[in-house]
Amino acid sequence: MANDRYSRQELFSPIGLEGQRKIRDKHVLIIGAGALGTSNAEQLARAGIGRLTIVDRDYVEWSNLQRQQLFTETDAEKRMPKAVAAEKRLKEVNTDVFYHSCIMDVQREELEELIQEVDVLIDATDNFDTRMLINDVCQKHQVPWIYGGCAGSHGMSYTIVPGKTPCLHCLMGQVPLGGATCDTVGVISPAVQMTAAHQVAEALKLLVDDVKALYKKLIIFDMWKHSYTGIAVQHAKREDCPSCGSKADYPFMQQANQTKSAVLCGRDTVQIRPPRKMERDFNKLKESLPETEIEENPFLLSFKREGYRFVFFRDGRVLIHGTKDITAARRLYYKIVG
Ligand SMILES: [Zn+2]
Repeated sequence: MANDRYSRQELFSPIGLEGQRKIRDKHVLIIGAGALGTSNAEQLARAGIGRLTIVDRDYVEWSNLQRQQLFTETDAEKRMPKAVAAEKRLKEVNTDVFYHSCIMDVQREELEELIQEVDVLIDATDNFDTRMLINDVCQKHQVPWIYGGCAGSHGMSYTIVPGKTPCLHCLMGQVPLGGATCDTVGVISPAVQMTAAHQVAEALKLLVDDVKALYKKLIIFDMWKHSYTGIAVQHAKREDCPSCGSKADYPFMQQANQTKSAVLCGRDTVQIRPPRKMERDFNKLKESLPETEIEENPFLLSFKREGYRFVFFRDGRVLIHGTKDITAARRLYYKIVG
């Protein structure tokens, strides 16, 4: 490794040589490898983070390439899982980083396993169900996390430090936390990059223990209208908050709140999770299928039936494209797996 690799970052006095050493020793977990996730991941890999864990449940599609910076046309052609494609590219960016990529849908059990020995978690998800789960798990395990969301030309970000700041649950209903998604109003890359820039800047402050420098406000901006606002939210911290109050019972970690089937972020797609952990045997599945046109890579198997596209993952999950109707999707699913 060239000695001056991080020289410009080390010259930046709030980081310095000591900060660089701290960054080297730290572990960041990124939930989601879409637009925000890939931007965060690349910046952190270049900054010399010690360990980077990237989790995503989806695969690369052509509509991702406009803004998801780690992916190529080949990844879209081969329907590569995003976590795998991201890791492959990141290894070309910085070989010093220890990468761990996971193709999975994050629920309570998975997240509680992943969060061990994590210094900072970055939210790069596209839905509030997962964010509220992240919020509860981070409060329980006392891990700071950085919320980020964007759609259209606007974005927002907020850093949550357990015991110090209000949590996302405290903020619900107090401040506007979006609602539009990139699948309904689209999204331009500058909004993604700005959101990720805020997240990475806050992550670096946490990684070098410069807690005083954290922004402490909810940032909301619009790249098309040139508006930029910081909303003070410290007063929103609730002593009786079920997620961060003194009697917290982490409601979003309760079994009842876990979704087995879900419509994916405004898309014409339903995800079905098997009722328990399993590994799908692709050979056995193929034998049971009458379809002759089956696409396959080491991570997923895909085919079309009755106008729907089915994508089976090794962890047992299935994505059914072409419907938002969970009941109809489940019926189709059971016709295949019995
Ligand atoms: Zn709270």
